[in-house]
Amino acid sequence: TRVRSARYVVSSVTIDQCPNPPTPPNFSGKWVGFPDFAFIGRSNVGKSSLINSITGTDGLALVSKTPGKTKAINHFLINECWYLVDLPGYGYAKTVGRQMRDVWANFTMQYFLERRCLCNVFVLIDGTVPTQEIDRQVVTWLADNDIPHSIVFTKCDKKNKKSGPPYSLNVEAFKRDVLAEIWDDEESMPQVFITSSVSNQGKQALLGYIKRLRSV
Ligand code: GDP
Repeated sequence: TRVRSARYVVSSVTIDQCPNPPTPPNFSGKWVGFPDFAFIGRSNVGKSSLINSITGTDGLALVSKTPGKTKAINHFLINECWYLVDLPGYGYAKTVGRQMRDVWANFTMQYFLERRCLCNVFVLIDGTVPTQEIDRQVVTWLADNDIPHSIVFTKCDKKNKKSGPPYSLNVEAFKRDVLAEIWDDEESMPQVFITSSVSNQGKQALLGYIKRLRSV
C-alpha cells in the first residue's frame, strides 16, 4: 500500500465546515464522498510524527500545529480517495476532567457523533507510559457510542529505561485494564497496532487496514 499523494484540504472549527457536507435528509441514493479516518491522542503522543510517517510527507502534520489550527479538525486528502483527519490533542492526564468537558470534548465529540462518513478513529496511545486515565475514558466513550475505532501504540521503538517498562508490558496492561473491561471477548476488541515513527514499524499494517476498511 502506497501513499502517492497527500495534501492539506481544510481546517474546520465547526462540523459544517468539514468537507463532504452531509447528504440531504431524504437522500436515498449511493452516498459518494471520501471516507474519514480520524487520528486522536493525548498531546505529545507522537501524532504528528505518525502522520508524517504514514503519509511519507514530512511537514504535512505541521499544518495542524500552526496557530489557529491546533484546535481545529484538519482534513488531508490521501491518494485523492480518503481523508486523514487530524483532530486536536486531548491534553495531559492531569487535566483530564476539564479537557474532557470543554475544549476537546464539545467539538470532537460532535464530530464523532455526527460525521456520517467517519470510517474509523485511530486512538493513539503512548506505548512508553502506563495506562493513562484519559485514554481509558476516551476509548470507553467511543465504545459506548458505537464509534468504530482502533488502538495505535506509538513510540514502540523506545527501549526499556529506568523510567518505565517496555511497551509490551504497557500494551498488555492496557488490553487487560481497559479493553477487557469493555469487551467480553478478544474477538470483539478493537484492532491493536504497534507502531514507531522512527523505524516505520506498523506503517504498512495501518495503511493496509485503512485500505481494507475502504473496500467493505
Ligand atoms: P504530537 O504532539 O502528538 O503531534 O507529537 P509529536 O509527533 O510532535 O511527537 C512528540 C515527541 O515524541 C517528539 O519529541 C517526537 O520526537 C517524539 N516521538 C514521536 N514519535 C516517536 C516514535 O515513534 N519514537 C520515538 N522514539 N519518539 C517519538
